[in-house]
Amino acid sequence: MRIWMIFILVIATAYFTIQCRIHPQLTYNSLLDRIQHPLDTRLRYRIGSIDPRFNLSTEQLQQLTQQAAAIWQQGTIKNQFIYDPNAKLSINLIYDDRQAESDQRKQEIRIIENSRQYTDSEHEKVTHLDSQLEQAKHELNIYQVNYQTKVEQYNQIIQDFNQTQHTLSDTTRQQLNLQKQQLQQEQFELQQRINEFNLKVSQLNQQVDNVNIMNQQFNQSVDQFNHRFHARQFDKGLFNGQEINIYEFESDEDLRLTIAHEFGHALGLNHNQDPKALMYPVMKEQDLKNFKLTNSDLELLNSRH
Ligand SMILES: [Zn+2]
Repeated sequence: MRIWMIFILVIATAYFTIQCRIHPQLTYNSLLDRIQHPLDTRLRYRIGSIDPRFNLSTEQLQQLTQQAAAIWQQGTIKNQFIYDPNAKLSINLIYDDRQAESDQRKQEIRIIENSRQYTDSEHEKVTHLDSQLEQAKHELNIYQVNYQTKVEQYNQIIQDFNQTQHTLSDTTRQQLNLQKQQLQQEQFELQQRINEFNLKVSQLNQQVDNVNIMNQQFNQSVDQFNHRFHARQFDKGLFNGQEINIYEFESDEDLRLTIAHEFGHALGLNHNQDPKALMYPVMKEQDLKNFKLTNSDLELLNSRH
């Protein structure tokens, strides 16, 4: 009887050892799970703790984790992971300065975007004002030329009278006086219009200066932003055999891919050198929305033994 038990134990141990060689992720399932599901090679995970500052519910995290698992399922045509509330491996969201930095980055992006919109709209206003002033300048020139012609005509009449030395009739004198008064009035109006125009030009110049300063400030803040915030790195997540801890993400898509990346480590994979791959250590060029495992990811998986 005892020999049989030892025999079964040896066989079971050998089976589990070989199974672990082929499916390294099974190391992270509990012994009880492995005994209860001896043929199941899926890595079991549960949702652990979520810092409330992430504003993410357990259901939301579970859903994103399922989507992360689906990336592996679609790429390998095999279920690699299964949700199990009693699993040994937990997925946790831990808030530290990495997420605080990420939140700060998002905030800065919003500020920069607002300031870009404001600068653009101010620039548009100035351009509009500029074309209005161009039109006003054109009208003022016509007015000025008309006035000048009238003055010359008037002077010509006076000159003609002076040359012929005719005595002016009362009616003519009155007419000439009236014409002179009108010309004086027009000169006054012309001067006023010129003053108004010059005032508008100096206001426009002031606005152009302001827009240029705004543009400079905008470019500076973009430079500062680029200097301060670098490409997002995958060390914002960590797999330690017991837990997948996520410390930073920018969006649901970002979190989904970060979990999928850590799942890759749980499958026994290291990093690769393909910037578009899931197992590349930096997240920058991957397609966040419709990510599919790359050939280099699959090569890693196939060469892990
Ligand atoms: Zn990694």
